[in-house]
Amino acid sequence: MLSHCANSECARPFLRLRQGKLFLVEKECGVPSGESTPPCLPQKQPPRRVERYWLCDECAKVWTLVHDRHQGIVLVPLPPPPASARPAMGHVCRETA
Ligand SMILES: [Zn+2]
Repeated sequence: MLSHCANSECARPFLRLRQGKLFLVEKECGVPSGESTPPCLPQKQPPRRVERYWLCDECAKVWTLVHDRHQGIVLVPLPPPPASARPAMGHVCRETA
């Protein structure tokens, strides 16, 4: 889980904490449907558990991770940088008449 970049198409090995971005995802209590656990298992774990995911430097620039209730951890593209970081666009139609 933490041994490689969370981007399955990259899968860069996790080497240093300083590189990339670490995500702590708190999972809700309860077992998601589809996951089978033996009924006799003692409930020793706390109701919530935190899972760690890591994105390498390159992936952390363009991707982020979100926890989807149904799909689990999903890789989503980061929103584009704010307009101030980009060359001004729009409102270029000036009337010269
Ligand atoms: Zn990566």
